[in-house]
Amino acid sequence: MTPVTIIGPVMLIALMFGLVTGSFLNVCILRLPDGTFFRKARSHCPACDALIPWYLNIPILGFVVLRGRARCCGAKISWQYPLVEFVTALLFVYVAMRFPFIDVGGGLEFARQGEAGMPRPILLNQPEAWRFLHALVFCCVLLVASVIDLKLLIIPDVLSLGLIVTAPIVVALHPDLGWRSSLGGVLLGGGILYIVAWAYWFLRHEVGMGFGDVKLLAGIGGWLGYEAIFPVILIASVSGSLVGIGVMIWTRKFHGKTALPFGPFLAFGAVVDLLFSQEIRELWISNGL
Ligand SMILES: [Zn+2]
Repeated sequence: MTPVTIIGPVMLIALMFGLVTGSFLNVCILRLPDGTFFRKARSHCPACDALIPWYLNIPILGFVVLRGRARCCGAKISWQYPLVEFVTALLFVYVAMRFPFIDVGGGLEFARQGEAGMPRPILLNQPEAWRFLHALVFCCVLLVASVIDLKLLIIPDVLSLGLIVTAPIVVALHPDLGWRSSLGGVLLGGGILYIVAWAYWFLRHEVGMGFGDVKLLAGIGGWLGYEAIFPVILIASVSGSLVGIGVMIWTRKFHGKTALPFGPFLAFGAVVDLLFSQEIRELWISNGL
């Protein structure tokens, strides 16, 4: 098999796998908050409880065929379903490109330029495979946490504490994450937001920052290391403020409180830091900053 012919299939598998996983993540988003995750095996219509046939559950295609309305009762199907599937697929393809864990001969770049038709060994790049898996699981957990936080303004402990508890496993398998960095990330991430939450309550006597956010940033620190905490907070604060201003203008509510969850912005910051920190640092250096 020539190198060029393997890149296409890998991306295609990542795309298909991403769509199917996105469909599973939709189930997690629906069932994790109320603890019904292990109860029903088949999917039912949330509006009328009718059983949904498998062919209407095919990612994105089902939504397109039904034109956004349930076949059983005509209820509107939430945009959440195709959107989560699409975003998951996009993330999977990017993560597969970012961490090319399948080596063809002397690496993909060399192989692309080298003479075609030459048989080359296809090898598994093990460190890259761990980075790939780490990024995949991390993005999935954060996507589920974000959508649940957007819908219900909570982050289930299974996800945030789950990241903290599994951090030692990441340390054991990940080629770049040391235990000091991971432990420091949990303490720094959780500590900073804990102080912010406490200070907000002390000054205004109301809950401004939920403990869900504290636990989530601690988990992010455990999986990315303490080096990621400040970039994540910076990206989350800036993007959160921009979206907050946008929502204010859109709804024309310039006074009073808009309940905008912070979790999705922390997740956004974490995924940006995970996937683009190298580019950001290079940009930084190349501009002489
Ligand atoms: Zn229905």
